[in-house]
Amino acid sequence: MNDTIFGKIIRREIPADIVYENADVLAFRDLNPQAPVHVLFVPKRPLATLNDAAPGDAALLGKLLLGAAEYAKREGFAEQGYRTVINCNEDGGQTVFHLHVHLLAGRRLHWPPG
Ligand code: C5P
Repeated sequence: MNDTIFGKIIRREIPADIVYENADVLAFRDLNPQAPVHVLFVPKRPLATLNDAAPGDAALLGKLLLGAAEYAKREGFAEQGYRTVINCNEDGGQTVFHLHVHLLAGRRLHWPPG
């Protein structure tokens, strides 16, 4: 099994500031936030990276993004704007090998990212 710190959070073995949950997705605040809002949306069924997603994971990938958009609307910053990011492997800056979508908001974000 591809276990990581995020697997432990999903199983409630270690604490996290959980802000959103549905049957397939858990979201919690990033411990090292890069914006006033920085939340990680993770699939409860682990995939290590985006490269490991298969056609059968299409719905799960969609649920991560829909969860982020639902959270943004619920929290009232959807119209102002936000960014979703998936880092993949070394050059993408991935450090935790349990696929996750970063949701960043609450300040004007720069483009291109570093
Ligand atoms: O995309 P990447 O793999 O780099 O993102 C991992 C994120 O997980 C980082 O933003 C890091 O701050 C966060 N993290 C966390 N809690 C942990 C370990 C990592 O919020 N216990």
